Amino acid sequence: METTEGNTERVRRLFESLGGTVRDGFPAVHSLVHHTETGTSYLKTPGVVMLAKPQVNIAGLEGFLEGFDPELRFPEYLDDPTSLPDSSQLCKTAGQVCYASFGPRRTTNENAAAYFERLTSAGHGSVLEHSNFSFLLYGISRSVTHELVRHRAGAGFSQVSQRYVSGSVLRFVERPEYAAEAGLHRLFEERADRAAAEYEAMAERLLEYQEGGNAMLSADYKTDARKKVQQTARSLLPNETEAPMVFTGNVRALRHIIEMRADAHAESEIRTLALRLFLCLHAADPILFGDYELGELPDGTYSVRTEHRKA
Ligand SMILES: Cc1cc2nc3c(=O)[nH]c(=O)nc-3n(C[C@H](O)[C@H](O)[C@H](O)COP(=O)(O)OP(=O)(O)OC[C@H]3O[C@@H](n4cnc5c(N)ncnc54)[C@H](O)[C@@H]3O)c2cc1C
Repeated sequence: METTEGNTERVRRLFESLGGTVRDGFPAVHSLVHHTETGTSYLKTPGVVMLAKPQVNIAGLEGFLEGFDPELRFPEYLDDPTSLPDSSQLCKTAGQVCYASFGPRRTTNENAAAYFERLTSAGHGSVLEHSNFSFLLYGISRSVTHELVRHRAGAGFSQVSQRYVSGSVLRFVERPEYAAEAGLHRLFEERADRAAAEYEAMAERLLEYQEGGNAMLSADYKTDARKKVQQTARSLLPNETEAPMVFTGNVRALRHIIEMRADAHAESEIRTLALRLFLCLHAADPILFGDYELGELPDGTYSVRTEHRKA
């Protein structure tokens, strides 16, 4: 088995090779926008941008820790010389509140990774629910988001509404299997052009129908009319339509999602997304996500796995 340092370095190298960057402490892996000859926009990989992460106020414990017998030396908890990512520190403090582990015999921050391994191996995963991360996800298809939103526990989603947005922001997502072969790629581009054109034609037709006062599509206001047109016209959009969202998860939920969706048996588009989520999370907090190992699959893509699943 690879050393922890070796694995961390491998994860970091993969993050960078996929174009990952860290700006002001927030990791991102962006995705390029491509265009067909007639101008239809599409993307080939998921874009993952960390929008929010925890900020912890450990100094806030001071008044609480000072209220105990001085012989317990609880205030020393605040003098730990090793600083942790805020997300790790928050979960570690939450765990240490459980056992009033603030004195000299507590696990210090230097040994945080071993501390979390004890928690995850024992299934004491609720401690991981305190730290939340939010992401902008784009370059993801409607079919992949349908899989992602099945994760209910500890996750939040705000996804583009095909009822409210117009065809002007319509984009598509090309699967790697299509991008890899010239003929399949051409068919994809033709399909994307056709879907965009059909959507526009259908929206126009429905608007005319609407303005003709047809009861089925009648609306009192202009925006309502547009909404009714779009909610009808979207029925012809394919699974390949891009469906961006803001996605938030606590660390317990995020770990479970990575384990299921970055698994070698997961569907390839969601595995690509879960890999990027993992790489960004590892960049932000290599302790809470430090037990995961990369596995290289025969097709050159990656899986992510840990010994301590479903904490
Ligand atoms: C490879 C693969 C193939 C799949 N194929 C299909 C398919 O063919 N058809 C299909 O419909 N779905 C399919 N799914 C989706 C799958 O069934 C789950 O809905 C999805 O993965 C969400 O995971 P989860 O149930 O662990 O939910 P999460 O919301 O991520 O929940 C995390 C954990 O919390 C607990 N939990 C959450 N909600 C409840 C609850 N209501 N009651 C009790 N415990 C709960 C469970 O322990 C759960 O594992 C597939 C998923 C994968 C990974």
